Amino acid sequence: MAEFDLIDLIRERCAIAREDVRVGIGDDAALLAIPHGQLLAVSTDSLVAGVHFPSQTKAYDIGWKALAVNLSDLAAMGATPAWATLALTLPNADARWVGEFADGFAALAREYKLALVGGDTTQGPLSITVTIHGFVRENAALLRGGARPGDAVFVTGTLGDAAAGLRCLDKNDGDATRLLASPPATREVLIERLNRPTPRVAQGLTLRGRASACIDVSDGLLADLGHICAASGVGAEIDVDELPSSPALLALFDAQARRALQLAGGDDYELCFTAAERAAATLQQDLARSGCAALRIGRIVAESGVRARDGAGNPVTLSRSGWEHFS
Ligand code: ADP
Ligand code: MG
Repeated sequence: MAEFDLIDLIRERCAIAREDVRVGIGDDAALLAIPHGQLLAVSTDSLVAGVHFPSQTKAYDIGWKALAVNLSDLAAMGATPAWATLALTLPNADARWVGEFADGFAALAREYKLALVGGDTTQGPLSITVTIHGFVRENAALLRGGARPGDAVFVTGTLGDAAAGLRCLDKNDGDATRLLASPPATREVLIERLNRPTPRVAQGLTLRGRASACIDVSDGLLADLGHICAASGVGAEIDVDELPSSPALLALFDAQARRALQLAGGDDYELCFTAAERAAATLQQDLARSGCAALRIGRIVAESGVRARDGAGNPVTLSRSGWEHFS
């Protein structure tokens, strides 16, 4: 299939009409109308085969995840998604693969009325770059730099599932025999969290003007909360026994394995945020009503660094504090 047929295929599968798209796919650039009084929030994330997803991942899931990780960045800013561009590098022009990829992308795009307005298609090792655009009112965005000592630390949903899903797929995992003997449905729940993360867009909007700082957990809780702390000039204490666990994670991993997955595992795309004590209770109620509850997992302190403690108050340390490229 030729490049332009592939672009047509993507355009057809991802067609979503928006009045603010004056010119979309098909010209040299898209022309887009930003609502009056709003700031444009822009973010880019790339997925590289074998690095950000296992090579055998289905095309549909790759399309979903490529958009989900970008939606998650807008969620962490408290922005409303609007448009995206898609740079696709493909080893070959496989129409079936591209069609399934576009279906996965479009399934999530439709949920948020997000329009695909352009992109680029090239040949090479499989890699996908999405740039997402959204809106947020001036002074309403959730930034990393606003956490203050005494604030409570929260996380939405559950942690560690995606990293657990990756372990379930790894035939060389130290525990592979036991994991492969576990109920397939339980493993499938975790693998689904890895392949089809749910961006917490509604929760990000609920947090606007109420959370003091926010980030999405893509590289692991310790690493990402560390970014909030660095930007805010504060530190944090995490109660590891309070970290939210899914039933599937509890079923397959013991307390020690869970800790490593929850503190250092990446790819959950939950929101980690801080809020003043007096705002906490109503915020938690509103988040639960939005469809995804948030649990309190610790507190912000003046002394820099992120420290994890167990229920008895003993420090918990890990060999690596999250996934870092080039390390
Ligand atoms: P140009 O040569 O001017 O860069 P292209 O031939 O690369 O134009 O692309 C033609 C049109 O198709 C442009 O509007 C571009 O934004 C769009 N496009 C190309 N690849 C993709 C893609 N993977 N997804 C969405 N739109 C794409
Ligand atoms: Mg081009």
